[in-house]
Amino acid sequence: MTNDCLFCRIVAGEIPATVVHETDETLAFRDIGPKAPVHVLVIPKAHHADVAELAAADPALAGTLLAACAAVAAGEGLKEDGYRVIFNVGAHSGQEVFHVHAHVLGGRPLGPMVSA
Ligand code: 5GP
Ligand code: ZN
Repeated sequence: MTNDCLFCRIVAGEIPATVVHETDETLAFRDIGPKAPVHVLVIPKAHHADVAELAAADPALAGTLLAACAAVAAGEGLKEDGYRVIFNVGAHSGQEVFHVHAHVLGGRPLGPMVSA
């Protein structure tokens, strides 16, 4: 638990979130500013700043996080039509919250992967 981390505070129950999936090690909740009909953030409960740091510190947990993304996508009914999983890392990506999170997006055709 990192006191000044927004997503650690969601894990701790100090800030409300609409949780759609939870395991011992992961939590998934709806993004507050959805960019698609389905936009869920999937996080490890343990604090790691980004996916590179997570992969270096705990590769097994990185795999567990990906499995949670797949479970969320299935639970949200996205398996048949497909979906996108995004990890932002650092300044050029526009990462705003420095607790690693996967964006699971779907529910409509998502268009180009990156805008020009
Ligand atoms: P990033 O840009 O760091 O990859 O994504 C951060 C995401 O967190 C954004 O999509 C933003 O809408 C979402 N977000 C920011 N604050 C909150 C919050 O308090 N609750 C929830 N559920 N999502 C948040
Ligand atoms: Zn955190």
